[in-house]
Amino acid sequence: MQEVKVNATSSYTVYIGREIITDAVKRVLPLTRTKTVVIVTDDVCEQLYLSKLNDMFIAAEYDVKVFVMQNGEKSKNLENYGHLLQYMADEGVTRADTVVAFGGGVVGDLAGFAASTYMRGVNFINIPTTLLAGIDSSIGGKTAVDLPEGKNLVGTFYQPSAVIFDLDFLDSLPENEFKNGLGELIKCGVLAGGELWEILLGGEDGLKANLERAVTLAVEYKRDIVVADEHECGVRRLLNLGHTLAHGIEKLSNYTVPHGEAVAMGLRTTAEAEYKHKSLSKKDYQSICCVLDAFGIKKTSGFDIGQLIEAARVDKKVEGKNINLVTVTAVGKCEVQKLPLAKLEEFYNGCKA
Ligand code: NAD
Ligand code: ZN
Repeated sequence: MQEVKVNATSSYTVYIGREIITDAVKRVLPLTRTKTVVIVTDDVCEQLYLSKLNDMFIAAEYDVKVFVMQNGEKSKNLENYGHLLQYMADEGVTRADTVVAFGGGVVGDLAGFAASTYMRGVNFINIPTTLLAGIDSSIGGKTAVDLPEGKNLVGTFYQPSAVIFDLDFLDSLPENEFKNGLGELIKCGVLAGGELWEILLGGEDGLKANLERAVTLAVEYKRDIVVADEHECGVRRLLNLGHTLAHGIEKLSNYTVPHGEAVAMGLRTTAEAEYKHKSLSKKDYQSICCVLDAFGIKKTSGFDIGQLIEAARVDKKVEGKNINLVTVTAVGKCEVQKLPLAKLEEFYNGCKA
């Protein structure tokens, strides 16, 4: 079992590995102040794994309360958030009790938001079950729900007291959901470079053989970034690599292109632009394309670059007339550039998106 320590506002450990859930749960029990936990999950994770987790807490003589929501992004809303708070109040959950998120990023974001606001904040443990949640959304303390006007418009920064990522959960993950996490993992590889990039260069087989190591490296990279900039005022913006175009691709596809895949496509186009501007070497550009191809990321989204840029104008990375664009100058070397919106078109001029 790997342990990654995160020294944010509060410190916590991320446990990573295969077949670790039983051991890891035992290790986090001392972090709970009472023997009451509220497990928040979705219907898919409930069916697949809930009884196993439930039994572990029951064996340790915990009073386990379970809140199940429907799987999918549309559940990450104020209504379910309200239902969860109401459920906790009805069940007499106190300020000393613990909320346990058990599922993908949707469950983690909503449960984390509820944990951060119920009675002004209760103990929160995150047990991610998707690749995306394990390498991305469970690290860094962002919680959220969506509004009809946009994603993640309501939320808090709130750190968990522990994260447990048992890779065995990924065995049941549908391929498209794995790919979703993969897009963020490739993004992380371009940002971090080094050993993570070497693993990704090995394609699907290489990743399969080194999944625990790759996940640990990605978590360590994100940890370093969020510890340096917990509230996203500076360096944390690097994590938005590929996201400017990705949001456009998601929007124009009516959200049929999954987020992670859109990020990977946005990454390819950004690398292409940098290569054209001669700020990224041919070798690194080819290396990026090679990894994207190895994981079957489509070469283009089919959308017009002008339309995508238009969509980027309403992105939250826009500050006044400028946009914070993350650029790649080498694998392992990216930077945030404040670019006038008008220059964005010039930057991507002639690129395929
Ligand atoms: P998700 O939670 O919707 O999970 C995807 C699907 O996989 C769901 O249908 C779920 O039921 C199913 N599933 C979960 N675990 C499974 C398993 N082990 N086996 C089989 N099926 C399983 O989506 P996600 O991709 O995990 O997370 C996306 C969310 O994360 C978005 O709402 C996004 O905004 C958020 N996010 C948050 C942060 C952050 O910093 N907080 C970062 C990135 C993304
Ligand atoms: Zn993302």
